[in-house]
Amino acid sequence: MRTGALSLPLLSVGLEELLAQGDPTQAEPLVWLKGHHSGIHSAPLFSASGYPAFMSRFFRSLGNEPTSEALAGHPILILEGSFSDDALLKVHQTLNSWVSGARVVILLGNEAAYGNDRPEGYLDLEAEILGDNPLPIIRIPGLPAQPRHLLGVLNHLLLYGLPDMDEFRRPTLFFENLICDRCAYRGAFESGDFVKHFGQKEGCLYLLGCKGPVTRNDCATHHWNGSNTWCVGVGSPCTGCSEPLFPTHHGLGMYGQLSHRAAGVRTGWIRHSESLAYTALGVTAVGLAIHGFTKHSLGQYQVDDSEES
Ligand code: SF4
Ligand code: SF4
Repeated sequence: MRTGALSLPLLSVGLEELLAQGDPTQAEPLVWLKGHHSGIHSAPLFSASGYPAFMSRFFRSLGNEPTSEALAGHPILILEGSFSDDALLKVHQTLNSWVSGARVVILLGNEAAYGNDRPEGYLDLEAEILGDNPLPIIRIPGLPAQPRHLLGVLNHLLLYGLPDMDEFRRPTLFFENLICDRCAYRGAFESGDFVKHFGQKEGCLYLLGCKGPVTRNDCATHHWNGSNTWCVGVGSPCTGCSEPLFPTHHGLGMYGQLSHRAAGVRTGWIRHSESLAYTALGVTAVGLAIHGFTKHSLGQYQVDDSEES
């Protein structure tokens, strides 16, 4: 008997059969601890179709208390948000206990995955909790994290075990390709058909600071919230929200334009215009240097008018 497919593409791979045969008594133990800033990642997840059915069928929540019985189940541990280091709250202690018993830790969203926006007095998960623990870690970054990525990773853990990961321990299933390589405006990027100001409907957003050329994520092909929309699709440059360098990007900020070298721009005129800009800057710098040198040199021979008067 078919029990119905989940609409999320990745989840449909093998999952229909599992749904049909699934035995709730085999449900995987799962602990999901949410700290400060966590709602932003959970909200889109709860609106993902198929989420409640998938979660309730294949996972059982162990609650928050790390009892010896719960730890013996070696749950999947999801950490989302930032966690207070307040000794009274005993969060540090609770996290340590769960990490000691978990079989895998998923760091969901930028705060947990990269330590972004960690307020003072909050734990550095990497240094203070995970440390040298050999426990497998999976990072699912983003602002917010893509619900499909979490469901896909959970699905993968159930069906095949740990997914392949990149150097930042992000699943390559979702974080292998550059956004730019799959973007509908890739042709425009190559030919130099760049949007010059916000609100312009079609064209590549490189000049408006798009970080698609240096961001690995699958937004350009799978879009958001089961719709056909995504950042670039609605005229907003990719800010590279799932990259470790977000939001500063080496001082460029979210909307600073990448250099043509960093972006791999091959379009002649923009390379040329940037070269001209660099040349102009160089000439100005040399001019200033000569001016400074001349002034300094001449200064040794200048007559101080004030002494004469
Ligand atoms: S720079 Fe941005 S808008 Fe242009 S092709 Fe790349 S991802 Fe698309
Ligand atoms: S397109 Fe870029 S900014 Fe938008 S969600 Fe994807 S990675 Fe983040």
